[in-house]
Amino acid sequence: MTEERIELLDSDITTLKVDAIVNAANNSLLGGGGVDGAIHRAAGPELLAECFGLGGCPTGKAKITKGYRLPARFVLHTVGPVWHGGDHSEAELLAACYRNCFALAARQHLTTLALPAISTGVYGFPKEAAAIIAVRETRAALAARPELKVILVCFNEETRRAYEEALNRS
Ligand code: ADP
Repeated sequence: MTEERIELLDSDITTLKVDAIVNAANNSLLGGGGVDGAIHRAAGPELLAECFGLGGCPTGKAKITKGYRLPARFVLHTVGPVWHGGDHSEAELLAACYRNCFALAARQHLTTLALPAISTGVYGFPKEAAAIIAVRETRAALAARPELKVILVCFNEETRRAYEEALNRS
């Protein structure tokens, strides 16, 4: 069963003791606002130093660093699409973020993963549509890896509602 390995959790992702948390970063990987800023503040300056060496990240792709002062061992940095109305491959790029994070986690044998609602903050992706993509890609990853556990972090009530609806759709 995949459903019992998806958890919705109202939390600050920086507090979670998991193998890896996912960061909704920007193309520079050099820090920003929202969850990105919170992760850098909690991880400490060593995280920024490692990110400097990564040379940025294209939208839809993912890169890994250590977690430093975070309880999580690793951070998977992915760059979600900015919402430009929906006909600029936003849905495909968001799906690619999830797929590339799950693929990276599999390559590194990471089994507990916590993810924020990528692109749904400053980047403006509609929360309901983003939740449907997140749940679809999470289910696919869980089906492919029986040892995987995924926490979808709800930082606000709208995000939780969007995930609950997406989980109840099918
Ligand atoms: P993006 O630029 O990809 O939209 P944001 O950081 O602005 O990224 O928002 C992505 C999601 O992360 C939003 O749902 C936002 O509410 C959530 N978020 C912000 N801070 C945290 C945090 N500390 N822990 C978990 N989720 C967070």
